[in-house]
Amino acid sequence: MTRPASLNTEKARRAAKRSDRPGADCRAAPGRHVVIVDRNKCEGKGDCVEVCPYGVFEVRRIADADYAALGFLSKLKSRAHGRQTAYTPMLDACQACGMCVVACPEHALTLRPVTSGT
Ligand code: SF4
Repeated sequence: MTRPASLNTEKARRAAKRSDRPGADCRAAPGRHVVIVDRNKCEGKGDCVEVCPYGVFEVRRIADADYAALGFLSKLKSRAHGRQTAYTPMLDACQACGMCVVACPEHALTLRPVTSGT
């Protein structure tokens, strides 16, 4: 099956070449992996939105509960970035290419296989 196009093909091509890219090279069945966003690191820059071939991400204003859970310095950082952060509304479509993980400039994303405890 042909992989759908990323919004930023050049950035996706660079990410795909990274030897430290985790995951299953987009061969995993959808819904078998989760991407965890570390909101203390995420600055909402949107590289994940640009490279993900499956439209997993959106960048939007941080939810009040997520903002409240940030530490003091992370709240300051969040405000400095317009309280923008990444969410994964289409996480069930992830096929574990790992490009978002290596494309994120803040190293805010972790890709993990779904386990019974996840
Ligand atoms: S690992 Fe999943 S969420 Fe990340 S870019 Fe690939 S398909 Fe999208």
